[in-house]
Amino acid sequence: MSASAEFLNAVHAVVGATGWVSDVGEQRDYARDWTRQHEPRPCAVVRPGTTDEVVSVVRLCADHQVPIVPSGGRTGLAGGAVAAAGELVLSLERMNAIVSIDPLACTAEVQAGAITEAVHQRCAEQGLQWPIDFAAKGSSHIGGNIATNAGGIHVLRYGSTRNWVLGLEVVTPEGQVLWLNDAREKDNTGLDLRQLYVGTEGTLGIITRAILRLCPLPRPGRREVIMWATNGMGEALDLLQAARASDAFELCAFEYMNQACARLVSQRLGRSLPLRDAPGYVVAEVEGAHDAWRPGLLEWVETALDEHPALNEHPALNEHTGLDGIIAGDPEKRRAIWALRERIGECLAARGQPRKYDVSVPLSELPSFAAALEQRLRRLNLAPYIFGHLGDGNLHVNLIDSDSKAHAGSEHHPADHAVYETVQAHRGSISAEHGVGLLKRDHLHFTRSPEEIELMRRIKRAVDPANLFNPGKILP
Ligand code: FAD
Repeated sequence: MSASAEFLNAVHAVVGATGWVSDVGEQRDYARDWTRQHEPRPCAVVRPGTTDEVVSVVRLCADHQVPIVPSGGRTGLAGGAVAAAGELVLSLERMNAIVSIDPLACTAEVQAGAITEAVHQRCAEQGLQWPIDFAAKGSSHIGGNIATNAGGIHVLRYGSTRNWVLGLEVVTPEGQVLWLNDAREKDNTGLDLRQLYVGTEGTLGIITRAILRLCPLPRPGRREVIMWATNGMGEALDLLQAARASDAFELCAFEYMNQACARLVSQRLGRSLPLRDAPGYVVAEVEGAHDAWRPGLLEWVETALDEHPALNEHPALNEHTGLDGIIAGDPEKRRAIWALRERIGECLAARGQPRKYDVSVPLSELPSFAAALEQRLRRLNLAPYIFGHLGDGNLHVNLIDSDSKAHAGSEHHPADHAVYETVQAHRGSISAEHGVGLLKRDHLHFTRSPEEIELMRRIKRAVDPANLFNPGKILP
């Protein structure tokens, strides 16, 4: 599709020189996310500065039948922010104000383009947090987090983004502005339209502003990070169950990485792992239930490691200690342990273009799912890098091999069916937290029934009859 000069001039007149991206290289950058599977081909890229400008651009697009791709921090891993078919990219990055924080109501009002980490920092000044936390927070936008219903490392404790959004301002495909739910904690007046826009990847509306629900930051001295070497996922799940039973602390994060990930990240970061060589590792973050919680934590860890008594509370993280478990002990070591987990994605990307799967199954299915998956992939001669949010039943499965390079630019890989059939057989989801976008669209049927897909289609047609907002995303 090519946009007319009349249309482009009219859009330029709305956003002005500051809101218009004319450099072709920059246009390409704005027209894609972290995935590199599609060639970016936008008809134009705009960066409006106000909701009124968004409305005017949307109305012009409706008049000229030009589709729109809403764009946030472009850290998405599903191709949701990709414009590969002549769409107009509408970036929210100039609408990045953190308007206000209300410590009484525990809310923050922000524009959609506010960077997630900047919101964290402003909330922390008031002793508050917006508890959606993950490695891309330095670039992702609040609007992108809401549009993808982002998860991250603390879902186990706080749930996903959906739980932390009170109000939303949304621009519809007709160019109307909806202000949904305001800052009300309670409102049972029928359909909760706000939730229609959470996790629907910009296919139904453009989020321009939000009221976020906040909660208190943990008290100083109440958080600790522990890392264990385990004999695999089965043992990691035993630890999870035991940790949930403790009354000294609550689990905030329970992450897993297999040996391949641990070796890769330690090699890339030039740091030896502080623990013994093992088939898998757990990184857990816990929060004390009361001020005198630490003895309870130590007692619990020692009991949990009964069969592996080698535990060190203040390890030298750059040395290979051969231990079974370590407790970080201070903030710097906490960050160093988290880096081993959080930088896996970046280390994988540096090795090549991995084929990525972001799957989840009910926790009770995890051991049999993991065993079946490894068996299917072994038959294809593939050794996966597996890591993720084990406590949520969410694993990121990454494949790097000569085959995945050969298939990097293609929409399909021979392993897709092996992964997705195994997911389906274990009542799982083909996208736990990254969304569907372009990349998972053709695999939606492994998780959603034909009736559900048809209902989603009908909702899309009702809200966006001309199919202008992010066409071709989510629905096959
Ligand atoms: P984008 O990539 O710009 O867009 C994502 C989707 O949202 C697109 O469909 C886009 O059209 C739509 N969109 C963006 N802004 C708006 C808006 N204002 N209105 C309507 N639609 C909009 N995700 C997790 O959930 N958990 C993780 O632990 C996690 N870890 C990650 C680690 C790394 C290293 C990376 C690179 C990514 C990770 N992600 C993770 C994925 C990604 O960061 C999240 O999906 C994030 O929420 C995307 O936000 P964004 O602003 O970058 O959105």
